[in-house]
Amino acid sequence: MVHIKKGELSQEEKALLEVIGKGTIQEAGTLLASKNVRVNCLDENGMTPLMHAAYKGKLDMCKLLLRHGADVNCHQHEHGYTALMFAALSGNKDITWAMLEAGAETDVVNSVGRTAAQMAAFVERLNYYTKPQGLDTEPKLPPKLAGPLHKIITTTNLHPVKIVMLINENPLLAEEAALNKCYKVMDLICEKCMKQSDMNEVLAMKMHYISCIFQKCINFLKDGENKLDTLIKSLLKGRPSDGFPIYQEKIIRESIRKFPYCEATLLQQLVRSIAPVEIGSDPTAFSVLTQAITGQVGFVDVEFCTTCGEKGASKRCSVCKMVIYCDQSCQKTHWFAHKKICKNLKDIYEKQQLEAAKEKSEEDNNGKLDVSSNGIDAEQPEAEPAVPREGADPPEAVEGEKASLQCHAGLECSQDAAAGPLASEE
Ligand SMILES: [Zn+2]
Ligand SMILES: [Zn+2]
Repeated sequence: MVHIKKGELSQEEKALLEVIGKGTIQEAGTLLASKNVRVNCLDENGMTPLMHAAYKGKLDMCKLLLRHGADVNCHQHEHGYTALMFAALSGNKDITWAMLEAGAETDVVNSVGRTAAQMAAFVERLNYYTKPQGLDTEPKLPPKLAGPLHKIITTTNLHPVKIVMLINENPLLAEEAALNKCYKVMDLICEKCMKQSDMNEVLAMKMHYISCIFQKCINFLKDGENKLDTLIKSLLKGRPSDGFPIYQEKIIRESIRKFPYCEATLLQQLVRSIAPVEIGSDPTAFSVLTQAITGQVGFVDVEFCTTCGEKGASKRCSVCKMVIYCDQSCQKTHWFAHKKICKNLKDIYEKQQLEAAKEKSEEDNNGKLDVSSNGIDAEQPEAEPAVPREGADPPEAVEGEKASLQCHAGLECSQDAAAGPLASEE
């Protein structure tokens, strides 16, 4: 790449910087077409036209410059500012998005490690809201809700189904008025986390995300009785082709998008990881969010429940062996969705087993030239139970058994030794 010197601008380049501030898109376009204009030229401070456009909050100019090949990661500014930082300074969310979508690098200092240390201070904060403050006659958070809310916001399992389950199982929480109070308190904590001198973006994002799930619960509760069960079903409903839970993915993306502080590095990091991924592909928004908030890297070697995302799930669907649950209760909750694809997954599993066996035998053959007289010991897939009828109860979930394909929940199904079937609860 040609080295561009700071402050050595042609007349047309100077005119372009003027036009970015005050002119029209047409004028800018005309100038950019000139051979005397370099799209990544630098003014005396090391600012590119794109940085100028971002700083001045001109979205159309930014897009035009990016189309003309502006380098979104140019790093020549005297104070090390990038176009993305200028976008943040302008306070224009759309420009921030445009920069991120153009591949802007975020200099991420992951503050995950701070979360645990700040948890104590954080509990204090929750207690604070259980007492009336200032002119209030009532506390923002009724003391009886502090315990249940604390349980939810300190969880490391951010799976939306798990959060709704935790709400659903507590009669104190599972009503509109209580959820209203809780989500407002979480929004306040989120704001505090962002505005205090010792900013904590991770905790802020977590509060915001859980608040969004609470608000979804409120929407469903408004419709009548038992509506949280309906919400859980909506979250688990898979698309016909592979059972991927589209609504769940959308809900998580939407809550990240609604995070009110667009300058937050963590938000930018999340958007950068999620925006280019088509809905239905990996990584899921859930895995990206979980990793950012809990620091949990990848999902290898640990089993996560397909229904509720809980760690350490070990009961596999005995038919397809491709999904895993905490217990039969989680399996039952998921069955309405899983039964539609269980047969397909079973086929995939069997194919996979066959291929693995084939590969293994080929390897063995190559490794043991003229040595063995035993022949090839290809592993055959185990006999499977009958495929359940449509609408029937779920098949027994059994202890985990080898499967290594990415299951539709986007989590890695890893390996486990085969064991006996789970004792039925019925
Ligand atoms: Zn579960
Ligand atoms: Zn199955």
